Amino acid sequence: MTNKIFLESAEATYIFDFDSEVKSIEPYEDKYAVVLEKTVFFPEGGGQPADKGTIDEISVLDVIEKNGEILHILSEKPSNHFVKCSVDKNTRFDHMQQHTGQHLLSACFARLYDAQTNSFHIGPKSTTIEINLAEFDNEMAAQVEEMANDIIYKNISVIARVYDNNELDTLPLRKQPKVKENIRVVEIKEFDYSPCGGTHVASTGELGMIKIKKWEKCKDWYRIEFVCGKRALHDYRMKNTAINNIGAFLSLRDFEVESGVEKLILEMQKLQKHTADVKTELNEYISKELMNESVQIGKMNVVSKIFTHKDMNQIKFIAQNIIDHPSYIALLGNKDERAQIFFSKSDDVPFDMGKLLKSNLSIIDGKGGGSAKNAQGGGNNPEMVEQLLNKVIEDIEKEVGIY
Ligand SMILES: [Zn+2]
Repeated sequence: MTNKIFLESAEATYIFDFDSEVKSIEPYEDKYAVVLEKTVFFPEGGGQPADKGTIDEISVLDVIEKNGEILHILSEKPSNHFVKCSVDKNTRFDHMQQHTGQHLLSACFARLYDAQTNSFHIGPKSTTIEINLAEFDNEMAAQVEEMANDIIYKNISVIARVYDNNELDTLPLRKQPKVKENIRVVEIKEFDYSPCGGTHVASTGELGMIKIKKWEKCKDWYRIEFVCGKRALHDYRMKNTAINNIGAFLSLRDFEVESGVEKLILEMQKLQKHTADVKTELNEYISKELMNESVQIGKMNVVSKIFTHKDMNQIKFIAQNIIDHPSYIALLGNKDERAQIFFSKSDDVPFDMGKLLKSNLSIIDGKGGGSAKNAQGGGNNPEMVEQLLNKVIEDIEKEVGIY
């Protein structure tokens, strides 16, 4: 069994550098599993990620607990029998803050709402707890935060030690232990007693601040994301910068930003509606103008128009306005970096727009197709759009001549 120094006391979790004898080195997948006589490397477990660090300057990629031994996973073998080990202090201290923060938050949920914690997870950016709760809202979140932060300000000791079963019976444990003996309890002095094998800070003041960020409702529990320690500072700094920047854009003070943005969105929605109305009116106007300029071929009115740099959706909208009237063919083109063509016809017109387009697309070096009613194409030669439309009109005239 590896001697797990990190379990000895809360203070022992502040040992980051140590020397140890190597007990064994075994191949592990395409890497090596190094077992030491003693270690402060915390293996992944109970929602807390594994420590990072080095053994004789070689990076520790993962730390796993197996049959009471701690396996340090390395990409190469250390050559010395006695090795110098170092745990990444910043990452470990962050994990200690998040883990103790979780105990504190879980204790507050239990005290205020008799709500139990189902699970806990420290991710690289966010820490979440799942709490058995039927309802949760801003006011409840504020109450939990107030209680938890008051405990932080009191700078209460956090004590970790192993109890025998008789002693254990006297403790008001928040949850039942998963193991039967050598039960380690982490105590936020006289506030919370929780069986736990994780690493913790020595006193609540080291959490700095705890803040619930957001939550989502699951089946009959809530997944609650929180930050504490340096993560809370970083989160506050990011949000403060964002609010100040938005305030500067809008010439508003920080407490005015929310209502200012709300007002801005309402104004934008009004403007979007107004723009849409104007566009509709404009398209109707263009459609009418084009219908007035249409050429009569047989019993049909043929509209032919070449636009420049126009949006295809607008062109389709104009075509629709035209062919909503009986006996119309709309032959519309657009000159941009490429040539774009859209043909459409009224229901009573006996022509196939798809065929008309396909048989002439080579003029603009293009591709496309469609149905008898609507056809669309694009080509590499925008300068030839006019020739294409002229040729299509000729085709229509020939066909009409046949009838
Ligand atoms: Zn714990």
